Amino acid sequence: MAKASAADMPFSEVAKAFESLEMVSARTQLTVILVKLFKSTPPSIIDKVVYLIQGKLAPDWKGVPELGVGEKLLITAIAMAYHVPESRVESLYKTLGDLGSVAERLARETEAKRKKTAGLLAFMGGGGEPLTVTKVFNTLYRVATAQGEGSRELKIKLVAGLLSEASPLEAKYIVRFVQGKLRLGVGDATILDALAVAFGGGAQARPIIERAYNLQADLGAIARIVAEHGVDALKDVKPKVGVPIRPMLAERHNDPAEILRKVGGRGLVEYKYDGERGQIHKDGDRVYIFSRRLENITHMYPDVVEMARRGIRAEKAIVEGEIVAIDPDTLELRPFQELMRRKRKHQIHKAMREVPVAVFLFDILYRDGEDLTVKPLPERRRNLEEVIVPSETWTIATNIVTDNPDELVKFFLKAIEDGAEGVMVKAIHEKSIYQAGARGWLWIKFKRDYKSEMIDTVDLVAVGGFYGKGRRGGKIGTLLMAAYDPETDTFKTVCKVGSGFTDEDLNRMEEIFKPYIIPRKHPRVDSLIEADVWFVPAKVAEIIGAELTLSPMHTCCLNAVRPGAGISIRFPRFIRWRDDKRPEDATTTKELLEMYRRQLKKIEEQA
Ligand code: ATP
Repeated sequence: MAKASAADMPFSEVAKAFESLEMVSARTQLTVILVKLFKSTPPSIIDKVVYLIQGKLAPDWKGVPELGVGEKLLITAIAMAYHVPESRVESLYKTLGDLGSVAERLARETEAKRKKTAGLLAFMGGGGEPLTVTKVFNTLYRVATAQGEGSRELKIKLVAGLLSEASPLEAKYIVRFVQGKLRLGVGDATILDALAVAFGGGAQARPIIERAYNLQADLGAIARIVAEHGVDALKDVKPKVGVPIRPMLAERHNDPAEILRKVGGRGLVEYKYDGERGQIHKDGDRVYIFSRRLENITHMYPDVVEMARRGIRAEKAIVEGEIVAIDPDTLELRPFQELMRRKRKHQIHKAMREVPVAVFLFDILYRDGEDLTVKPLPERRRNLEEVIVPSETWTIATNIVTDNPDELVKFFLKAIEDGAEGVMVKAIHEKSIYQAGARGWLWIKFKRDYKSEMIDTVDLVAVGGFYGKGRRGGKIGTLLMAAYDPETDTFKTVCKVGSGFTDEDLNRMEEIFKPYIIPRKHPRVDSLIEADVWFVPAKVAEIIGAELTLSPMHTCCLNAVRPGAGISIRFPRFIRWRDDKRPEDATTTKELLEMYRRQLKKIEEQA
């Protein structure tokens, strides 16, 4: 029997460790088994062993294809490996309930038959050389990367070939791996524990290894550095363009004063946009985008790639932002569901036109050789501002700095009304570093924590207009809408509506409003917002929105629910003109107040 070379190891060692791992559940026991395995693994292949434990062939962001061997293919491969009909595999599967155990059973039967016919001495493993980790890993890699015509047959042949060489125990785990059902109960944290004990002398090395992993989210690669060069080699690990950094996460709180206290009295408050987090890496002309879960999502956002190429003034940089669907005519935020609509589409360039996006940047983690994760937020912010070349769709997240809870609430309400889901409050003291991979109180999210729906439409009067941005620059694209207050006989603003118009509606906008344009706000209009152009209250439109919200910007029912806030509509959409209605027939402020109260009651009932 040929021995596995020094830089390799029999796969049976891994299979045995998997079997032991399956039998225990306490983290300390799992760690002991992993330490033993890691210590006996040649350092140059420890990355492969780590990936196998994770049930992967590479970190997700590398985009190695799935193995692509479904249950049916696997049954064919097992039947082929052990020369039995597929019906036998299927019936065993029914009784044993797990294809891994089926393969194990059939391998054992084959082994027994061989022993009988060839005699004990001639038999070793599957009859030839024992499988090595490298052979198993590389073959599985070939299975995953086999694509296109004939790949189905090739995948079956490769898996069957591996199984025919595997011992019963090895066969069980190979099958479970292929099926994605390894389930060893070992998380990343336990692997980190074991690496610290195996190569760092104990738990004191854990934070160094973990920090390196947080900065370069590739557990196999980190394991290999520490196994080959020791823990000290990890102390210099910095973010690397092209390798995702594990994201910093926020705690959650709903009391504004308490939130500010927790961040040290004063904080940076930013809109919390409702889209997809993007960690954007720029390396010269190359751009990579990683999701919150560190998947490579670059191919979904060719537009963001272009924005990053043009909008980052650095050779190499890593920035973070939220990618949000926007209305191309008004650049207003659109709900998260719209972004999902884009993600479901296959023709990316079509999807890009239908659901355009903007990026709201909130952090920078690396800039031309410098690791910025260790710098406090104000310094990172300065760097971000220096590096970003803003455009309409590539800007820094809307923000204020405050130590005042009332100001925080006011900004929060404005964020909601603008289509954000709340605010992020971030510490700005000297210890406000970027805590990669951690959820902590340096960032606190303050969100609406209810879900409600606006069921009825309302009829509102157009009292002003705004010129469009983006695709419709210079033309009226958004209307300032008001409710009627019979007590004062005035029109009080409720929302700005820029969505729901057809192209034809938009093209006719100037013509429709021409007769009503006046040089300044109409005396019967009560507004805190300055419109680009004012109208005589005349045109009534039917509007629906996601929900009624409070807003510091609107005068409808100002102070009725909360001091300093009026009632507004989140994500308002135009439905149609109601030319059959006079402005005084519009929905009244009192009706809106009742609707708001009903909505609150419904939320309370849900809770
Ligand atoms: P949630 O369910 O609230 O999105 P989460 O568990 O996905 O929470 P959290 O850390 O709790 O993640 O919330 C932060 C998320 O909010 C980020 O991952 C990011 O996608 C998003 N986000 C939006 N705006 C900002 C901002 N200005 N700063 C940081 N994160 C932001």
